[in-house]
Amino acid sequence: MPTQTQIGLMSHEELVAEHERQSHNYARLEAEKLTLDLTRGKPSPEQLDLSAELLSLPGVDDYRDASGTDCRNYGGLRGLPELRAIFGELLGIPTENLIAGNNASLEIMHDLVVASLLHGTVDSPRPWSQEPVVRFLCPAPGYDRHFAITESYGIEMIPVPMHDDGPDLAKIAALVGSDPQIKGMWAVPTYSNPTGAVYSERAARELASMPTAAPDFRIFWDNAYAVHPLVEEAAPALDILGMAAEAGHPNRVFVLASTSKITFAGAGVSFFGSSAENLAWYEKFLGIKTIGPDKVNQLRHLRFFGDADGVRAHMAKHRELLAPKFALVLKILEDRLGPSKVASWTEPKGGYFISLDVVEGTAKRVISLAKNAGIALTAAGSAFPYKNDPEDKNIRLAPSFPSLNELATAMDGVATCVLLAATEKALG
Ligand code: PLP
Repeated sequence: MPTQTQIGLMSHEELVAEHERQSHNYARLEAEKLTLDLTRGKPSPEQLDLSAELLSLPGVDDYRDASGTDCRNYGGLRGLPELRAIFGELLGIPTENLIAGNNASLEIMHDLVVASLLHGTVDSPRPWSQEPVVRFLCPAPGYDRHFAITESYGIEMIPVPMHDDGPDLAKIAALVGSDPQIKGMWAVPTYSNPTGAVYSERAARELASMPTAAPDFRIFWDNAYAVHPLVEEAAPALDILGMAAEAGHPNRVFVLASTSKITFAGAGVSFFGSSAENLAWYEKFLGIKTIGPDKVNQLRHLRFFGDADGVRAHMAKHRELLAPKFALVLKILEDRLGPSKVASWTEPKGGYFISLDVVEGTAKRVISLAKNAGIALTAAGSAFPYKNDPEDKNIRLAPSFPSLNELATAMDGVATCVLLAATEKALG
């Protein structure tokens, strides 16, 4: 079988034959007229059903929290203390350092960037918008919507390579140590989007403590997948706020999280954790923007979970639905692409994505071949600042939403596109 040979080791004749075989496979794929979508990391309907009870909570007579607050009314800017305590335990953050908000942590990240631009942070000599230039470090591959926020406000983005245990620390230290215009950094510390990398304790400690030329350097520690393991043993939540305080940089870190991938992606609760000084700073702007968050939604989440173990037990149910999908994708990648050595991929222990690297210079082609065959993949370069994947090789796969059957069909199709693009490239 030609596919049992590494494509890079094939003779010209073998390559031509392999290209012909993959072209046939592709023609068959096109004829199937598929409409499948592997683009966004959305929970599947079955996952959303796990939280169906939320739709009837808190119930007609239940609207007060333990302190007697009437959740139907205005107020309570920091959110319900009991819910903050549950997520504080899960995120390793004291309740008083954690605010519970509305349905999107991305909105908080956006607002933090805007407030820093317009007003400056508590450690800024002037608002970021009055700086000649503002730069952010962007571990890449990373989360496209992070990069969209910084790009939309004209913040210059500097890509930093991402490894299995966090970003390239030596490069980051050199950059932040010498450039006072580097004001921030994006980070997804647990089961990162899209590689699944988990920051090591050493990485966290170094980031929390490294000297920076900017006095107001901020790490946007987006722990979106803090409680989302795909395996029995979950990665621990690192005490990043404690590490930063211990190192003498108490205001360096903004921690974000939400229940978007726990309950309802569009109707969950978001969280913002930081130093007392940072929270007071944020609250000034928050209090102008709103008279209080949706506390009924927070109460419903509180009733649904009960405590932190309730969240963990709920996440185990997600795992039962998600783990087989990840296993299926990995198996198809190995079966179809393993022997030919035209691709490599991550094997995440949690989170929502698999990061696939195809032959250099072919990611755009693979994505366009797949699109033409009715399989939607995340746009080429999405995981890089300015959508610029310098090697044109990265593709983000999101296995959560499709059914197992759809996923098998889609991934088999993707593998065909990868092989066809690889043989095209090898033939020049
Ligand atoms: N952060 C990361 C790393 C994500 O992958 C996502 C969604 O895919 C979000 C944040 C969005 O979070 P939210 O729904 O709380 O705005």
